[in-house]
Order: sequence, then structure tokens, then C-alpha cells
Amino acid sequence: MPDRLVLLGSKGGPALRPGGPWPSSSLLQIGGRSIVVDCGLGVTRGLVDAGISLKALDLIFITHLHSDHVLELGPLIHTAWTAGLATPVGVFGPPGTSHYWRRFCQAMEFDIEIRIVDEGRPDIRDLVSISEFDEGQVLEQGGLTVSALRVEHPPVTDCFALRFEHGGKSVVFSADTVFYPPLAEFARSADILVHEAMLEEGIERLVARTGNGARLKGHLLASHSFAEEAGIIASDAGVKRLVLNHLIPADDAKIGEADWTDAVRKTWAGDLTIARDGLVVELSSEKAAQGEETA
Ligand SMILES: [Zn+2]
Ligand SMILES: [Zn+2]
Repeated sequence: MPDRLVLLGSKGGPALRPGGPWPSSSLLQIGGRSIVVDCGLGVTRGLVDAGISLKALDLIFITHLHSDHVLELGPLIHTAWTAGLATPVGVFGPPGTSHYWRRFCQAMEFDIEIRIVDEGRPDIRDLVSISEFDEGQVLEQGGLTVSALRVEHPPVTDCFALRFEHGGKSVVFSADTVFYPPLAEFARSADILVHEAMLEEGIERLVARTGNGARLKGHLLASHSFAEEAGIIASDAGVKRLVLNHLIPADDAKIGEADWTDAVRKTWAGDLTIARDGLVVELSSEKAAQGEETA
């Protein structure tokens, strides 16, 4: 299995629009592990389309509990269970993840109980272990190391960038964050930095077409980064490739890949990928050079 990153859902925020992209979720395949990072709506479909057997689900990380990152966590595990999942799944998330999972199982109690009796399935509640993490090392297992950095995403205080390392390769996810310089040290020399991004010219139109414009704009400016700022982090960190993800806006017909590229090129000269749903980024350096270069 080649090491690769698959961007399953590439838009920021929970809204869906006809034919548009899906909220946040990614698949990282590294060192023989298939790791799901965030579970926004559409993650299950995205994994299936990426060729992943849901029965093999084993490791899930959640950066924070905003719905565009966690809404489909329960439905993903439940769908894997009905597909024949019978092996343990480890879920790592911020404080509150256990509460979400316990209440999800309660909400689905009728279906869970009936399938255990009727279909002879193992108890889904015994298959899943939830680990709530804080800043620092989160996991070290079979050569895979995962660490977390608390980022600034007010009013959410438990929001964590994640760094995955295996066999000398490393991939860092910024999570949702305002421009946060300590991320550069955290992402130092990573093969891939997946950073969230907004495009200034699109924010005004986005705010104009939603109901609570002024408050939305306030939240976006206080809690998210512009593409140019993602480029500064990538440059300061000296990463090998920057992937712009969690795009806001992601579904504005007036904004295309070239606009994102123009913005980030002011601050980042290295390898660049603008995320879209289903896009694969190879992790081995030779293949990355021949891969889906977008700029
Ligand atoms: Zn988000
Ligand atoms: Zn968020």
C-alpha cells in the first residue's frame, strides 16, 4: 500500500450546496495504516470511493468538535459495523469525544440491540475505544507517532493540529485555526502540511448570501487563516508541500483554483496542492514530483 493522503472532503463549514464539495475529512495511509482525520458529513462515502474497506477501519482522529469535523463520526463507525467490522477501532479526539460517542450509541440503541440479537454482530460499544487527548504526544504504536498542538480557533478551546510520523515521513494537519505562528515549528520540515485557508475576495460574497453576515464574518476573521497566512506558515516551517484545504469559500463560481494559487504564491514558492474532494497526494517524494501538481 503506497503512502498517500486522500482529501475526502475539502470545504470549510457545514453547508452543502448542489454539486458542491463536502465538509472536512481526510484519509492518511502511512506505514500500512489507514488513518481517518476528521469525520465531516460525507466521510463514509469518501472512504468507500477511495477504495477503503470499512471493515478495516482502525484509527480515527478528530481535531475538534465543530460539526463539520465530527458530525459523521458515529455514522461512519456504525456503517462499518453493519458492513462487518469486528476488530477494535481507536478514536482519538478532544475532551467531549466520549460524550458524543456514548450519546450516539444511546440514540441508536434500538438498531444496535436488534442487530446484535438478529444478525449476531459483536457489540459495537465493545469495539470502540475513545481516547481524549491534550497537547503533546498522543500515540506511539508500531512506528507511528502522533502529536498534537493546541491551535487558536475561538470560541473552541480544544482544537488541535496533528502531526503524523512514520519511517521518516511526516504529515501535519493545521486543523481550524487563525494565523498561528507556533504551527511553523510544529510542522518543521514535514513532507506535507495540510493547512486551512480562506480567500479574502470570497468572504464578502459569502457573508452577503448568508443570514447572519456580520457575526459570520467576525467568526471567520477571528478563527480562520487566509491563504497568504497558510503560505507564511509553510515557508517558515520549510515543508516539502503545502496543501490548502478546508477552503472558505469552496463553492463560489467566481473563484477557481487559479485564485487560490495567486493568493498563496505571495508567500509560498514550493510545491502546492489546492484540495478538492477525492484528490490523492502521493507521499513518496519522487511520486509527488510527478503527481497532480496544481501550480
Ligand atoms: Zn471547520
Ligand atoms: Zn472549526
